[in-house]
Amino acid sequence: MKLIIMGAPGSGKGTQATLICKKHKLAHISTGDLLRKNIADGTELGKQAKAFMDAGKLVPDDLVIALLKARIEQPDCKDGFLLDGFPRTEAQADALGKIVSVDKALNLETDLDKLADRMASRRACPKCGYTTSVQAAPDGKCKECGETLTIRDDDKREVVENRLKVYNANTAPLVEYYKAAGVLVSIDGMQAIDAVNADIEAALK
Ligand code: ADP
Ligand code: ZN
Repeated sequence: MKLIIMGAPGSGKGTQATLICKKHKLAHISTGDLLRKNIADGTELGKQAKAFMDAGKLVPDDLVIALLKARIEQPDCKDGFLLDGFPRTEAQADALGKIVSVDKALNLETDLDKLADRMASRRACPKCGYTTSVQAAPDGKCKECGETLTIRDDDKREVVENRLKVYNANTAPLVEYYKAAGVLVSIDGMQAIDAVNADIEAALK
C-alpha cells in the first residue's frame, strides 16, 4: 500500500498516520519529522530548513524532494508506506508521481477557524517526536519516553496563522489534484480521534 495523508496543519494527520502505520505495518514517512531530525542533528539540510520552518513557510521543493526520495529508497518502504506532510505543493506531487503510483490519498477535512486553537494546545516530545495536547497530557510528560513535552517553535500563535495561509495557497489545491487522479478519499477530520480512524479503516478495506 502506498498512501498519502493530507490535511491542514492541526488536522490530526500525524496522529492518524501513526495509527494507520501501526495497524498496517507501513513505514511512516513524515517530512516534518525528518526535517526536525535534521535540525536536531545539526546537518547542512537542517541548517537550511530551520529558518523556513520557524517562519511557518515551506522548505524549498528541491530540498524536500531530495529528502523524500532518499527516504523512500530505504528497504523498510518496500512493503508500503504512508506519506505524512508530503506532497505539499504541486511540484512535489509531480515529483512523487514520477517515482511511485499512489494507491489512495486520504484527506482530513477540517474547519479552518478551529485549527489555530488545536495547534495552540499541541505539545510535542523533543526526544521521540510523540505529539499530544495539553488536555491529553496534563502532567506535561511524554507518554512514550517520559521526557518533558514542549511547544514546537512553529506552533507559536504568530507562526500558526502563516502556516494556515501557506496551506490554503499551496497545499489545499492538491485535493483537486488527487481527485482528478481518482485516488482521493475524503474523511471528516473534526470527529474524535477514534471516529476519524474508523472512517479511515473503512476506506482502506
Ligand atoms: P504540520 O502538518 O502540523 O504543519 P509538519 O511537521 O508536517 O507539521 O511540518 C512542519 C513544517 O515543516 C512545515 O511548516 C514546513 O516548514 C516544513 N515541511 C514539512 N514537510 C514539508 C514539505 N513537504 N514541503 C515543504 N516544507 C515542509
Ligand atoms: Zn518522547
